[in-house]
Amino acid sequence: MHERYAFMQSMQFDKLLCNSCNSRDICVRGLVERNLPGYAIGGLAGGEDKDSFWRVVAQCTAGLPEDKPRYVMGVGYPLDIVVCSALGADMYDCVYPTRTARFGSALVPEGVLKLKQNAMATDERPIDPSCPCMVCKNYTRAYLHCLVTKDPMGSQLLSYHNLSFMARVSCHFFWLSCSF
Ligand SMILES: [Zn+2]
Repeated sequence: MHERYAFMQSMQFDKLLCNSCNSRDICVRGLVERNLPGYAIGGLAGGEDKDSFWRVVAQCTAGLPEDKPRYVMGVGYPLDIVVCSALGADMYDCVYPTRTARFGSALVPEGVLKLKQNAMATDERPIDPSCPCMVCKNYTRAYLHCLVTKDPMGSQLLSYHNLSFMARVSCHFFWLSCSF
C-alpha cells in the first residue's frame, strides 16, 4: 500500500500554521497533481475532538478526486464511519470491533452491549434480534455471558458479530448514498 497511496499525516497540527498558508490544502493539491491511485488521510483519531477530526476529513476529501479511493486511517467507530462516508471517504481500518469483543462487548444499534454484566446471565435473547449473523441466530446473551467470562471462544463469537455489524453499517450507508 505504501507504493500505491499518497499519505497525508499529522494534519491535526495544522492549526499551528496561519490560515493563509494552510498546509492541508497545499498537501492535498500537491498530491492530487501527482495523479496517484489512492489517497490516505492520517494523523487523526489520536484523541482530538470530533469536530476538529471531521473538519480535517472534510477539508481533505473536498480536494480529493471522487474517482479515487479516499482512505481514513485508523478510524472504526460506527459514528465516525457514517460521518466520514458522508464527507466523501471510502475506506477505513480499525481494531475497534475485535478489541471491543475481547473486552466482552457487542456492537448494537443502540451502542454497546456489555455481555460481562450480571444481567446478561439470564437474558435468553440474542445480542441483537435484528442481526442476521450466525452468532445472533444461534446463541443467547446468557450463553455468551458464560463464555466471555470463562472462555476465549466468547471474544471470537463477539468479534464475528461485531464485524457483521460494521459490515451492515457500511452496506446501509452505501445503499443510502446510492439512492440519491
Ligand atoms: Zn449478530
